Amino acid sequence: MQTLGYYDGHYDEIDRMTIPMNDRVHWFGDGVYDAGPARHYQIFALDEHVDRFYRSADKLDIRMPMEKEDLKALLREMVCKLDADSQFVYYQVTRGAGPRTHTFSEGPAKLWIMLTPQTMADGRTPIQLITAEDTRFFHCDIKTLNLIPSVMASERAKQAGCGECVLYRPGGRVTECAHSNVSILQDGALYTAPTDNLILPGITRAHLIRACETLGIPVHEEAFSLDALYAADEILVTSSSKLCVRADRIDGKTAGGRDPETFEKIRRFMLDEFLEMTEPWGKTI
Ligand code: PLP
Repeated sequence: MQTLGYYDGHYDEIDRMTIPMNDRVHWFGDGVYDAGPARHYQIFALDEHVDRFYRSADKLDIRMPMEKEDLKALLREMVCKLDADSQFVYYQVTRGAGPRTHTFSEGPAKLWIMLTPQTMADGRTPIQLITAEDTRFFHCDIKTLNLIPSVMASERAKQAGCGECVLYRPGGRVTECAHSNVSILQDGALYTAPTDNLILPGITRAHLIRACETLGIPVHEEAFSLDALYAADEILVTSSSKLCVRADRIDGKTAGGRDPETFEKIRRFMLDEFLEMTEPWGKTI
């Protein structure tokens, strides 16, 4: 298969899949998701992603339709059906299907999976950023399907020829990006926002912190301002689709680029870890 879509036990090429209109995703975006890369049919950091997926569902009282281990086995099975060595593995759960009432439907929850070919970049090419006020709600720690502010911010970045939009709250506290976390290097140390309700606890952010700790780079999980971002030695953007990439422009002005050695150590470490954790193991499970 060239792509794979799965819904509630059925799967096919994505374009051939149809979804019942009364799935609550259509009325309310009532669900949560998670996603990460795979290479050599090996899903990267699967335990961490699946743990976060179940935590997100739990925070919204969505009862998962299967146990964690069964989901992992299903994802591994589906990944092997795609004719692509490198993939992006996306999955979501919606509360269920039923008439449009705000209160919960009876369930059961519906599991969705989407697999598409995608190769991991090596992080050598810097990206450009814009900034925008973070107008999202106060549950950004839950990976919900309600993504309109992120969609708007991403489109604004694209229109400006940029790869991401950095979000800040009134007062100037940088939270994260539309679909990535953002951290800075300053005087040889990493600064990254704390995992409160204003940011998604990124799996790649956690790998970045562990990489810095292993490399002897001090880590400060504390909020930083837009001014600190503009003045940072390096600006690091992390996500499951891009791992770790640096930014060299913000809002049209040159930024970062003052500590390339430290960035290179981090980039190499994280890429090597990804390559090691996705070593070939054959297409069978
Ligand atoms: N922050 C937001 C808002 C995101 O949507 C994402 C990824 O989708 C991230 C951060 C990065 O998270 P991860 O590293 O787990 O992909």
